[in-house]
Amino acid sequence: MAFAYRNGTLCAEQVPLEDIARRFGTPCYVYSRAAIEGAYGEFAQALHGRDAMLCYSVKANSNLAVLALLARLGAGFDIVSGGELARVLAAGGDPRKILFSGVGKTKDEIRLALEKNIYCINLESAAELERVAAVARELGRRAPVAFRVNPDVDARTHPYISTGLRENKFGVAHRDAERLYAKAAAMPALEVIGIGCHIGSQLVDPAPLAAAVERLAALAGRIEAAGIRLRHLDLGGGIGIRYRDETPRPVREFVAGALAALGDRRGSVIFDPGRSMVGNAGVLLTRVEYVKPGEPRNFLVVDAAMNDLVRPALYDAWHEVRTVREPESGAPGTVYDIVGPICETGDFLAKDRALTAREGDLLAVMSSGAYAMSMASNYNSRPRAAEVMVQGRAAELVRARESAEQLFALERIPG
Ligand SMILES: *Cc1c(COP(=O)(O)O)cnc(C)c1O
Repeated sequence: MAFAYRNGTLCAEQVPLEDIARRFGTPCYVYSRAAIEGAYGEFAQALHGRDAMLCYSVKANSNLAVLALLARLGAGFDIVSGGELARVLAAGGDPRKILFSGVGKTKDEIRLALEKNIYCINLESAAELERVAAVARELGRRAPVAFRVNPDVDARTHPYISTGLRENKFGVAHRDAERLYAKAAAMPALEVIGIGCHIGSQLVDPAPLAAAVERLAALAGRIEAAGIRLRHLDLGGGIGIRYRDETPRPVREFVAGALAALGDRRGSVIFDPGRSMVGNAGVLLTRVEYVKPGEPRNFLVVDAAMNDLVRPALYDAWHEVRTVREPESGAPGTVYDIVGPICETGDFLAKDRALTAREGDLLAVMSSGAYAMSMASNYNSRPRAAEVMVQGRAAELVRARESAEQLFALERIPG
């Protein structure tokens, strides 16, 4: 376990979180290197012996230390912006293992991607097909492309699929795909190299992924029968983690299910997991500023807020909160809402949690390795928190806490 109590105190690997708070202050994100390596290893193991590429979805956690670690392990990267491309390159990522996804790529972003020779641009609309071809022509290059196809898996069978349905903005419609492939293949500025899908996030069951892959593989077969060779099938990410009492099936079952759905189809497969690589490899460490008892609710006001972890406010997400001091077994605790200092009623990290805490105590908001710092903002002019990476007995600052001056360094008062 990356985060466990040792001698009465919660530790990240071998390092007490108290020591991290003392050295680096709070609020602070703490990542376990071993946990990230473990999650990557599990995925890589499941794909062993298969021609495959594992492209970490950068938006889950884009700290350079995380990207550099994954790059050293052999990962490729799934990016959704020019900013993410710059991060991956700065972290030493291999451009030939970069996929560029997203519905709104600008001309500048496409140009940069082509100049850097990335592996593939995932097209999400007919308009984007034209734009990528035009930019490639301008540069005198061929753009390597794939379409992200919306598999439109039946929502009634699989209600938890959130991005693979016809009504949402992602990907091109399944029924349009063959026509678009024929069009792309006829354009000299494009090199069609693959096809992909990504059906949603926090999947706990492999069945909907397998259903989508089966549909994608059948479509790929028809496209190839029309004479267009596809080098890879990109099966997306979306594998869930445990936040509370979810019991996502192990990664190997998702991979096995997806590979089985490919039938006897050979060729390269790509997965682009985000959350499952880093989600449970991080905590948000925060200190209790005030205990505020009340009727009908008791509050713990902490120094982290919705700007540091927006998932509870945005998705009503549930994160486990642990006291850094190990609770005495059987102690009933008091039921608190754990809230930040931001002037919004939606500024809460957790509600109705029974725990024992005093002013000055440390709390760890668990499962904060994914979609936490990468979604952080400066709302209420709060400098973004520090990030720390732990390896064994060592803890290292991987992003300094922002200063107040940095908040307005780019601003000017006219005249
Ligand atoms: C966000 C995203 C992912 C990663 O999703 P997770 O749920 O974090 O695994 C993968 N592929 C694409 C195209 C994405 O947009």
